[in-house]
Amino acid sequence: MIQREEMTENNLQTLLKQLPAVDRLLEEPAIMTCLCQAPRQVVTDAIRDTLAEAREEIMRTGHSGKGDELHPATLALKAVRLAEIRLRPSLRRVVNATGTLIHTNLGRAPLSRAALQAVESVAISYSNLEYNLEAGERGKRHAHVEELLCRLTGAEAATVVNNNAGATLLALSAMAQGKEAVVSRGELVEIGGSFRMPEVMNAGGVIMREVGTTNKTHLRDFRQAIGPETALLLKVHTSNYRIVGFTEQVPSVDLVRLGREHHLPVMEDLGSGMLLDLSVYGLPREPTVRETVQAGIDILTFSGDKLLGGPQAGIILGRGEAVERIRRHPLARALRIDKMTLAGLEATLRHYLNPEEALREIPVLRMLAISPEQTRGRCEKLLAILRQEVAQPLHAKIIPETSRVGGGALPLTELPGFAIAITPQGMSADRLAQRLRAAAPQVIGRIQEDRLLFNPRTLAEGEEELLAACLKQALHQE
Ligand SMILES: *Cc1c(COP(=O)(O)O)cnc(C)c1O
Repeated sequence: MIQREEMTENNLQTLLKQLPAVDRLLEEPAIMTCLCQAPRQVVTDAIRDTLAEAREEIMRTGHSGKGDELHPATLALKAVRLAEIRLRPSLRRVVNATGTLIHTNLGRAPLSRAALQAVESVAISYSNLEYNLEAGERGKRHAHVEELLCRLTGAEAATVVNNNAGATLLALSAMAQGKEAVVSRGELVEIGGSFRMPEVMNAGGVIMREVGTTNKTHLRDFRQAIGPETALLLKVHTSNYRIVGFTEQVPSVDLVRLGREHHLPVMEDLGSGMLLDLSVYGLPREPTVRETVQAGIDILTFSGDKLLGGPQAGIILGRGEAVERIRRHPLARALRIDKMTLAGLEATLRHYLNPEEALREIPVLRMLAISPEQTRGRCEKLLAILRQEVAQPLHAKIIPETSRVGGGALPLTELPGFAIAITPQGMSADRLAQRLRAAAPQVIGRIQEDRLLFNPRTLAEGEEELLAACLKQALHQE
């Protein structure tokens, strides 16, 4: 303010007059080069905005910055940078070096090659999305995966929607709208991103009847809650936490038996849902989807992009009439799956027809299966590449590090292995991480005690070289 008062109107005008015109900047070499690739409109807009910003700066502070700020070449470079940022896709690839397999912020599961090809083929052309080619008449969208899902899980019927949050909302609404659903207090989960079971029930028009306590719920608690208003018994997978110690929850089979006694359907939100038994990797034994179906659950739901390893989708399986009721609910249309997702999901599910193929082709399963020794081997290989590329002393070492599955799947499961810990010299780990996020492609690591960790478990084929190039760029940057 004081500066402003001291500034004579004259000085201000002189500075403002120094600002070049748009046409003058269009002749700058940097702008001319930029115009070879960038649309003219984008470049001129960037120039105008850069000039407007400089003008504002002068008006606000009474001076023009460090010295050469008003020089045409300086302003031109600023405008080019602005144009480049505006032309860069907002949603883009990153290298996930966090070791967290299903990272919701980083897009959850990467797709298999076959899934990608399936998406491309229906996206670039017309398809039989809702057309029965044999009969030459209107067909059903879910038909492309229903038989496959039934074969893989033993369910009677199946349908798919946009995501699992949508699947639970839809299923709850279709099964119990205006009525009560009974659920254990130990299973009222919050998944993050505003998915909280009590609120989902409320949004679906279902009256929540909670029973039991946080740590213990018995079958008799469910039995006592059943009344004329009860329409559904609900079980929810505690995806992202475990209640340990003096605990008890009602197993699916017991809930099914109770449901049958009272002619009530039973629904289970499985969260991640796994088609294969992962205990072969030394992972804790979780019931497979097939086992939950066998327990007699009427409706079960799970995500397409968690451990299944496909695109974002919500899978609904169960008894024929229940699935039919869900399909006919008005929300089904609002939550319907799109053709690209459906294509990617079908291709992902096809891998599971041969479990060995699934483990080989689906990235999430492949990464899950990497042994600690293999992660150490990959660390050694990566470190050698980093040292060669960076070509200056690199304070890095290989340390034991535990990965997490993430994405609200297998909450307590730890995947032992190794990571590379970099201790940057002359800057903080935060600063290095920030520079890596600005490199291309962006690399996301994990910070631990002023060290930056790269976990090779989540790196795809060939990403070691990308990571090395980005690290070099980040370390050498001024
Ligand atoms: C992840 C999860 C959801 C939400 O699934 P989205 O596919 O992310 O919509 C719902 N319920 C449970 C138990 C979950 O783990």
